[in-house]
Amino acid sequence: MAQKVPLVDLHAQYRTIQPAIDAAIQSVIERTAFIMGPDVRSFEEAFARFCTATHAVGVASGTAALELTLRACGIGPGDEVVTSAHTFIATAEAISAVGARPVFADIDGQTYNLDAQAAEAALTPATRAILPVHIYGQPAHMDALAALAARHDLLLIEDAAQAHGATWNGRKVGVLGAAACFSFYPGKNLGAYGDAGAVTTNDGRIAEQISLLRNHGRHSKYLHDLKGYGERMDTLQAAILCVKLDHLAQWTDARRRLAARYSELLAGCEIVLPFVDPAANPAWHLYVIRTPARDELLAHLDANGIGAGVHYPVPLHLQPAYADLGYRRGDLPVTETVAETCLSLPLYPEMTDEQQEYVVDTIKKFLDR
Ligand SMILES: *Cc1c(COP(=O)(O)O)cnc(C)c1O
Repeated sequence: MAQKVPLVDLHAQYRTIQPAIDAAIQSVIERTAFIMGPDVRSFEEAFARFCTATHAVGVASGTAALELTLRACGIGPGDEVVTSAHTFIATAEAISAVGARPVFADIDGQTYNLDAQAAEAALTPATRAILPVHIYGQPAHMDALAALAARHDLLLIEDAAQAHGATWNGRKVGVLGAAACFSFYPGKNLGAYGDAGAVTTNDGRIAEQISLLRNHGRHSKYLHDLKGYGERMDTLQAAILCVKLDHLAQWTDARRRLAARYSELLAGCEIVLPFVDPAANPAWHLYVIRTPARDELLAHLDANGIGAGVHYPVPLHLQPAYADLGYRRGDLPVTETVAETCLSLPLYPEMTDEQQEYVVDTIKKFLDR
């Protein structure tokens, strides 16, 4: 059956902004200036403003944002970084890429974010940083994590790849730690038409270091102050992101309205609905419910033309790629339970009320079976 409601609908969004997007792309091609330049700078300035940060540095992807941030902070071989295993693998890969060791701590059973007490128990003399992920767009408990980082003199770095525009105690993600890493992967809340990412920070030294590292460590064309990388933000993507950023606040409002409506329509059903911390205003990258009958519900939704997803079915500590770290099933019980029971419902700003009601009715039919 053709999908009646996809998990995300990037085409529907393009239709609403097509003339401006097409003009932005055309303009970059007409100027044949494809590398760096004013579009990247404009986007960086606008995104820094959006996040209320002093600096934003555009890079090639969210993964590059994480890796270059860790490098800029001097994290490397012999160091440990405490993070969540309930995330996309790039969070841990960036830690591995700089030669450090990811140490996975369990998550909170309500928000699915890194638990500060579990993080504290995972600290060793080698720990240099804590890397919480604002999973599904809800900020991690940044008060508890910032206090923990301060007590132990650790860096606090945000993986904000899913949380553009979310707030914690009224403050935007992006300024809640030493630096924050964003992804503009097409399906993210602010999505490019290819790969892109950015780091925001109020620390001028970190920003300067990342802008050197992303562009071969160069100050001028052929003078290289340090050994860097080819991880610049693509100019076409920057031009597209400049157009889309103007709509982000409104798109986030639409996500918040749809999320509240899901919670209202699904109240009282035999499923676990998302919990929102009173200090958080999530950006609702995903609306995630939980049920022990997850796989059956997923199949039922699929059979009825609904594109639900699972984020993420295998936690990082149980991934074959991380077998070398020696974790076993049972080491992170909350993470493992959430991975077995979580299900992401369709959610995107252009979703209609009728589409949402169809998703809700289809879930209710399954639960009443
Ligand atoms: C998407 C994502 C990344 C990686 O971003 P890319 O732009 O795909 O490299 C990192 N962390 C989290 C939590 C993500 O969701």
